[in-house]
Amino acid sequence: DEAITVANLAKQMGVKATEIIKKLLLLGLPANINQAIDFDAAALVASEFGYEVEKAGFEEEDILQATEDKPEDLQPRPPVVTVMGHVDHGKTSLLDAIRHTNVIDGEAGGITQHIGAYFVEMDGGRITFLDTPGHEAFTAMRARGAKVTDLVILVVAADDGVMQQTIEAINHSKAAQVPIMVAINKIDKPNANVDRVKRELAEHGLIPEEWGGDTTMVEISAKKRMGIEELMEMVLLQAELLELKANPNKPARGRVIEAKLDKGRGPVATVLVQEGTLREGDVYVCGTYFGRVRSLFDDKGRRISEAGPSVPVEVLGLSGVPNAGDDFIVLADEKQAKQVAEHRQMKHREKELSRSTKVTLERLYEQI
Ligand code: GDP
Ligand code: MG
Repeated sequence: DEAITVANLAKQMGVKATEIIKKLLLLGLPANINQAIDFDAAALVASEFGYEVEKAGFEEEDILQATEDKPEDLQPRPPVVTVMGHVDHGKTSLLDAIRHTNVIDGEAGGITQHIGAYFVEMDGGRITFLDTPGHEAFTAMRARGAKVTDLVILVVAADDGVMQQTIEAINHSKAAQVPIMVAINKIDKPNANVDRVKRELAEHGLIPEEWGGDTTMVEISAKKRMGIEELMEMVLLQAELLELKANPNKPARGRVIEAKLDKGRGPVATVLVQEGTLREGDVYVCGTYFGRVRSLFDDKGRRISEAGPSVPVEVLGLSGVPNAGDDFIVLADEKQAKQVAEHRQMKHREKELSRSTKVTLERLYEQI
């Protein structure tokens, strides 16, 4: 799996890429400037120019290896919650209701910001909500092996009951081993039937506590803002049971929740800090990018200087737009960050190349 591109090899040896391509072609190997060639081919070609190639043996784990936290370094952190459920059952309305409950009167620009996640502070504690479409976020994150959610709130409309996407959400959560709480919504509606919802959920393995099961179910109306505070209390209670902890006193590690190219500000990513503390000026590697954090903003659009565990934060100063689910890791120096990022870029190119080679071959066979 050791490989180097023709361009890079040429640069390292100070020869023209075309010279290398010629040699490769003579060896009967596919060759173009972006071609990734394996160690043996590189060694063979290099020897023709009087160079010896040494295996770098670069393992990004050598640099990125997470340090083990001592129990005494761990501190409680807020739960990270994702709201899921069937379309039109009230996910957006619930998130709005929660946000409004939490908005202090007169807070400047308090609820206008959309960064894909937000942070709620109450008397009982703090909660982070992921505000991206639940299913998409889950799928993107899981595809990258990222676990960002501690708890799922499954919204089920009391007049509609368990539907296709309700079942999908249950399956997603189970597969990711994330505990589920249920918000039975729209109880203000005349045709609301809470018992029916509970029966249907029980059929899918979610047994309400009052029936001897272990799934918390709270009756709410997102529209009429009923039951929201009780729901939040239950979230905090559940979070306490999960004993969520992280070490805030080390370089940050987190995940990209959302990212975009902003016209005025350049690449912007919402990063959920999962451990450590992220600060302005920190050197990071994020997916295939690296650089230095220029500035940080909270979910209310206010500039902040640092963000600890479970805090979602908008990061400016990225050298490109990462993908949702990409890791975000703070490193000691730019040299290391560059090394990891370039290694990842090379791997990425290799993958793309092998994909396109395959496609071309398939096309070729089709024509025969
Ligand atoms: P989402 O697709 O799950 O995000 O659902 P929305 O939050 O967009 O809600 C879908 C529709 O249901 C909207 O017309 C809401 O006004 C309505 N709705 C949401 N919550 C309630 C509720 O508690 N009671 C009633 N009567 N309507 C609700
Ligand atoms: Mg919605």
